[in-house]
Amino acid sequence: MASVRIRGKKTFAPSNYGRFMDDFDKSRFLDYFLLRNNLSPLDFKRWLFAPGMLFKDKESWWPGGRPRLHPHEGVDLRQFVDRHGQVHSLTAKTVIPAMYDGTVIDIFDDFLGKSILLAHGPLDQGLILHAIYGHIAPAAGLAINDTVREGEPLATLAATGKSDIPPHLHLSILLMARQAGPGEIRWESINDFAPGGLVDPLAYV
Ligand SMILES: [Zn+2]
Repeated sequence: MASVRIRGKKTFAPSNYGRFMDDFDKSRFLDYFLLRNNLSPLDFKRWLFAPGMLFKDKESWWPGGRPRLHPHEGVDLRQFVDRHGQVHSLTAKTVIPAMYDGTVIDIFDDFLGKSILLAHGPLDQGLILHAIYGHIAPAAGLAINDTVREGEPLATLAATGKSDIPPHLHLSILLMARQAGPGEIRWESINDFAPGGLVDPLAYV
């Protein structure tokens, strides 16, 4: 298995995290998000976040939403604004790329679609960075144990159907002392993992 370069720095083999990535910093998620959705960097200025969309927010942001049972386990990416101030909403056609090279650990249902759990390799503290991409429809053929490359299309957003909740990406980042296994992580138990646990995904996207 060939090693690949992360942001021109450390190298590691996606299927064998033997090397440490001591600079596992902000991903190129946004670059790849624009590329995969045929957008120019000039089309994007910043994400728009309503109260309830950010990490640990307690309110919900969708119409008629009740307060959350648990503080928000990640961030919700739903809309962005371009440099002219125009607001763009993600849709069920929006393509979601992988933040880094990684391995598909699990694909499971969530209340709007599916969630994909990827292990993205160790941080310098030895913790394994896991990302959960939620409310999506996985790319055809994507399966547990697949390795994916940084920027590879993982999914499109789930069409949320009759729900009042518009399509959006829920992103969680979970730091664990070892790599998770299939079936181990579910939304009901996601607050229980230590050390590391859930961290603010905006540090990585
Ligand atoms: Zn969310």
